[in-house]
Amino acid sequence: MDARSNSGGAGDATPDRRPAGEAKARAAEIAGGRAEPAAPPGAGPVHAVDIQGLRKVYKGSGKTGPKTALTGIDLQIPRGSLFGLLGPNGAGKSTLINIMAGLVTKTEGTVRIWDHDIDRDTRMARSAIGIVPQELNIDPFFTPRELLDLQAGLYGVPKGERITDELLEAVGLADKATAYARTLSGGMRRRLMVAKAMVHSPPVLVLDEPTAGVDIELRQSLWAHVRRLNEAGTTVLLTTHYLEEAEQLCDRIAIINHGSVVADDTTPNLLGRLDSKTLTVVLSEPVEALPAELSAFQVELADRHRLVVRYRPSETRLGDVLNAMNAAGIQVADLTTEETDLEDIFLQLTRAAPAPAA
Ligand code: ADP
Ligand code: MG
Repeated sequence: MDARSNSGGAGDATPDRRPAGEAKARAAEIAGGRAEPAAPPGAGPVHAVDIQGLRKVYKGSGKTGPKTALTGIDLQIPRGSLFGLLGPNGAGKSTLINIMAGLVTKTEGTVRIWDHDIDRDTRMARSAIGIVPQELNIDPFFTPRELLDLQAGLYGVPKGERITDELLEAVGLADKATAYARTLSGGMRRRLMVAKAMVHSPPVLVLDEPTAGVDIELRQSLWAHVRRLNEAGTTVLLTTHYLEEAEQLCDRIAIINHGSVVADDTTPNLLGRLDSKTLTVVLSEPVEALPAELSAFQVELADRHRLVVRYRPSETRLGDVLNAMNAAGIQVADLTTEETDLEDIFLQLTRAAPAPAA
């Protein structure tokens, strides 16, 4: 059996929890948006999370055979980073996160959270991380304040050290503190889940598709909260389907496909990596066939008035393409070049590899 019950408590092992005063100050900072920019403050390991050779094979049942969800991956999340984990559906993102949360048992490999091995040092590892799972699981008959208090109790946070009100403030739910959870909108529940993951002030926060199905406005405010948490020093790992947001939000991105890491780099490096550009040329005179002068390039006649050229900027200069067109007697009415974005890279990396046999 793979899924363990999420009783969640870290007992009385709370050495990685920050002192109440510090946690309160941080929550207040987050609420007020006055956090100092970047720079991971305080001490801690170089890698907030260190994953080595992590493999997961789901046993499967009757009809379905075993399924390899993670092939043996290495992944390091630098302390203080806002790290994006991207991948298509079924890539293994939730499996990875649920192993870190202790909800799924791994088949092989090691996972260290804030320098604590999740097998040998389970309680300490658990107390160093807060997880917002993909599925919303909130008891509808509790109020946000009750839920956060209950969760803090599970983590053994003494009453005097709880930051319930600060957290409610931080996620914009202060005015809903005493409303039944069932009366909260989907977006509010998400934010409540974020607060719930933070009751023990963990240095690492993990969010699994926190904005899936959340409308744009709420997504923006949720991201703003996440960014403030990160600016206040929390290391954040999130999975998302929204590439554009990952591009804007994350300082580092890993792409996972069929249970393997296919890219892991800083966001600017990743964006600079795809050596490919697309030039679209609108012709003032229609052409019936591709001129021979352009045979050296990868050209396509989209229609009689439009040529599409794909080229590698590292090998081909735009000027050479234009000179060849000139030599072919092509009259250019207009042209555009398309910049690479994360989506191109994502598609290139995730389409390239065929699914291995399970
Ligand atoms: P993602 O979160 O990236 O969409 P998951 O980690 O949920 O991916 O799933 C990875 C693969 O493992 C998928 O092929 C999925 O069907 C399979 N899988 C996930 N959970 C289970 C499970 N409990 N039992 C069997 N297979 C599972
Ligand atoms: Mg998932």
